[in-house]
Amino acid sequence: MTVFDRILIVDWSARSAPSPKKPAADAIWIACAEADGLTTWYARTRADAMARIEAILQDALDKGDRVLAGFDFPFGYPTGFTTALTGQASAPAVWDWLSTHIEDGNDNANNRFNVAKALNRRFPGIGPFWGCPTALADTDLPDRGNARRGHGITERRLVEAQVPRAQPVWKLFTTGSVGSQALLGLPRIQALLDRFGNDISVWPFSHPDTPIVLAEIYPSLLDEATQALAASAPDMTKDEAQVRTLAQALHRLSPTDLQAAFDAAPAEARSEEGWILGVGIEAALRAAARPDITPPRLKNDCFALPPGVDWVPVPQALDTLRDGLTPVVTHTTVPLRDAAHLILARDVTAVRAHPPRANAAVDGYGFAHETLGDAPHILPLTQGAAAAGRDAPPVPTGRAIRILTGAALPAGVDTVVLEEDTTVQDGHIAFGGPVRKGANARDAGEDLAAGASALTAGRRLTPADLGLLTATGVSTAPVFQPLNVAVLSTGDELADPGPKSTETTIFDANRPMLTALLRAWHHTPHDCGIAPDDRNAVRAALDAAAKDNDAILTSGGASAGDEDHISALMTAEGSVATWRVAMKPGRPLLLGLWNGVPVFGLPGNPVAAFVCTLIFARPALNVLAGGDWLMPQSFTVPAAFAKRKKPGRHEYLRARLTPHGTAEVFKSEGSGRISGISWAEGLVELDAGERDIKPGDPVRYIPFASFGI
Ligand code: AMP
Ligand code: MG
Repeated sequence: MTVFDRILIVDWSARSAPSPKKPAADAIWIACAEADGLTTWYARTRADAMARIEAILQDALDKGDRVLAGFDFPFGYPTGFTTALTGQASAPAVWDWLSTHIEDGNDNANNRFNVAKALNRRFPGIGPFWGCPTALADTDLPDRGNARRGHGITERRLVEAQVPRAQPVWKLFTTGSVGSQALLGLPRIQALLDRFGNDISVWPFSHPDTPIVLAEIYPSLLDEATQALAASAPDMTKDEAQVRTLAQALHRLSPTDLQAAFDAAPAEARSEEGWILGVGIEAALRAAARPDITPPRLKNDCFALPPGVDWVPVPQALDTLRDGLTPVVTHTTVPLRDAAHLILARDVTAVRAHPPRANAAVDGYGFAHETLGDAPHILPLTQGAAAAGRDAPPVPTGRAIRILTGAALPAGVDTVVLEEDTTVQDGHIAFGGPVRKGANARDAGEDLAAGASALTAGRRLTPADLGLLTATGVSTAPVFQPLNVAVLSTGDELADPGPKSTETTIFDANRPMLTALLRAWHHTPHDCGIAPDDRNAVRAALDAAAKDNDAILTSGGASAGDEDHISALMTAEGSVATWRVAMKPGRPLLLGLWNGVPVFGLPGNPVAAFVCTLIFARPALNVLAGGDWLMPQSFTVPAAFAKRKKPGRHEYLRARLTPHGTAEVFKSEGSGRISGISWAEGLVELDAGERDIKPGDPVRYIPFASFGI
């Protein structure tokens, strides 16, 4: 149970007076990331911050949300300290001890240096705490770290070996004085435990399976992303950028990665020292932290046809779409395991060669080719065997070694003879010839060299692509966020199946069909229901759809009739181009922008809506999603039908292949016959020319599989 609805990140401060009124650095900053977005607060005192944090935690509990709250100070001390102080090898015993000794006023005035002196007096020698204003320094609390001796406690925690730049917990004054932050923070952790009881736990000291989980965090893990954010927002303090970046990154982290972060704390750190959440999964955390890159908006005239064009041939309609559209979604970086079916936003190059080393392609015997004389060949075997994943010792000249498929070629081997082609006797192998140099061996990098282009931007990542990228050492992929597409039907006659239907009701066939198509194409459909034939209702539906989506598919109301409100409204209030496409079925295709969001106004007729979506919306949506323009693969096959066709329009016939590999077409071309698109397994495409097709004549057949359905 590691999924959290809210991620709260706190950048703590050990100031002894309230921070300035105007938000400043080195003060307390709080960020909360949740599905609705990200909120930050600035707190002038620790008391204010705690009031805010408790309110957020209580609100989450009331709503049944789970919260992960991260604080940027150590939750524990190096092994040994806890037992020496409290007699128990347990961090919570220290929090409890500090709660009874630390005084921390509402104005930030506090006694931390005196408490540190009291702590140091419990240890022999000088230390372990150090650092304070010079006037306060004495042998109980020196103002220099190197004045300490003989206190007997380790300087750093285990986790700090992974984050060498982190300051040790003993340092109480000047830059990065996490020691003071811990002294003033840990009693606050105890207070949260007291208040929230069974609903709260502190990782890694207990299992993170409560509604509220507290964890130690270290925002510097994400310095690069923080700097990128700060650079893009000059008014933001570094502290605010830090909490925003970390909250966002943890919120985006996949449940598997979050679980891995929790699992990363070693057993030795789980009672006294604690661990930093994110240490151990840095790459995934950094990938989740990269700021999204927002694309430019579409141009208002992206669907405009050249002046004077009114009746558009299909190829010209496709060209106009391809040239006018650009990606509308942001891109980000995700771990490879989350990248299947997402579209690559940048070219990706191989991080390492594949294969990384020359290796054997078969089970057999390896040797240096140049040592072979004339056939038949007899070579003494050297000791041992070369197997995959192991380094074998060099093979002396004139000898052979047993080698297994996938084993790296040992030094002195460039050629492999197949096991079946040899006989083995008395520690020798014998085989005939000829044997080519390099036979049965794969060169290092023969598949892909390090630095070679692996995949190019615009590609939707296939399962095989994930295999390729992993093999070449790539662990994250720059990808576009999925395209959110609204689906809206219009028409007074339409309803969803249910008891309210009458004889004149038409069940809405388009929404289920279009949403399923979008899902098959790996977009994210949003069902926007049915709008009646009423201009205000259609406007409200388009406004709502445009607010949360990257593109809108409407069906119905796209012609120029009285009840065609999509057409009327977009003409009056949007930016629109109505294309009378020279195709059957289809015809009116309305393309426009509503509040900047591209709208595909499809015909209402389900057969026409289906065909127009395959032919026009599919490639266009893929470009909006950041991908390549898609051309369906087609095949020339003999017709199993006869048909006369006048010139002028492209035609798409509902078709399927017969067992003889010929294309048969549906018994009726009636555009109301929805059973035909279900019967069909593809389309026969006839171009705009005149045709007199006889059985056996070649026709172009596009299987539905070519449209990815
Ligand atoms: P329209 O494009 O609005 O003139 O509609 C053309 C034809 O398609 C009319 O017969 C409509 O009733 C029908 N139609 C429109 N939308 C749908 C839909 N979502 N499901 C089924 N039929 C529809
Ligand atoms: Mg209608």
